[in-house]
Amino acid sequence: MRYEGTVYRPPSEANSLILQVTIGCAHNKCTFCSMYKDKQFRMRPESAIIEDLEDARQVYAFVDKFFLADGNALVMSTDKLARIIKKIRTLFPECKRIGIYGSPSDILSKSIEDLKYLKSLGLGIIYMGIESGSDQVLSRVKKGATSDQIVAAGQKIMSVDILLSTMVISGLGGEHLWETHALESAKVINAISPDYIGLLTLLIEPHTPLAEEIKQGTFKILKPLDTLKETLLMVKHIDVRHAIFRSNHASNYLTLRGTFPEDQKKVLGQIEYAIECYEDESLLDQNRSL
Ligand code: SF4
Repeated sequence: MRYEGTVYRPPSEANSLILQVTIGCAHNKCTFCSMYKDKQFRMRPESAIIEDLEDARQVYAFVDKFFLADGNALVMSTDKLARIIKKIRTLFPECKRIGIYGSPSDILSKSIEDLKYLKSLGLGIIYMGIESGSDQVLSRVKKGATSDQIVAAGQKIMSVDILLSTMVISGLGGEHLWETHALESAKVINAISPDYIGLLTLLIEPHTPLAEEIKQGTFKILKPLDTLKETLLMVKHIDVRHAIFRSNHASNYLTLRGTFPEDQKKVLGQIEYAIECYEDESLLDQNRSL
């Protein structure tokens, strides 16, 4: 396998073989993101992708999952993507799932028939960043999608029965918009009712427009306690049919996991307890001595 630059994948794809089918991110404008700033977006030639797959077959005896990178590989045409997936299935008949990152606009530009076709070939999961459900926040961070578009894209994936994993970024509204960020994000999650809800916490990457806003004083980072209050507000307002909830990324202040709605009360209790500990240092001391 040949890779260009740093390659990113969702935590749940840690054991997947990563196949770079596109380079960079076609949008590449989010003010908080530095992941692909050093890459000029382009499609990798199909011949190079096929060569990589053939080489990988010589090296790996068993691959049960593939992840197609980079940032929004779903932007690729359905025909090309279908040919790549078919090649994976031919060379790796043991492969059980193929995953990919897709932006709301990539999803909206595919027809229901395209998505059903890709699913029938083996596309098993799409990872879509919601980031925030608030249009104010989305426009501030230049996400390139509105909350209505995000909902439409999410609902489209759910309607074709491909697994949908969504991500929200805690703290993305900063001190000024944390409440609307929490409430509107819950609203978008509820409208989609995705299979997975992941929560990351905003990390300020150097040399990003957001880092510059902080220097200028136009964006104020949410403090850890307020981030927990934001998470509490969001989780209180989540109302989904069935979703795996995870807040266990290295960026998160508090590790949370559960299946909603069954575990929602338990998760709320854990957040409330963490807030109490933060607010009452004696409780924090008691916990340290346990
Ligand atoms: S957050 Fe996603 S869509 Fe935005 S620039 Fe980064 S990779 Fe691209």
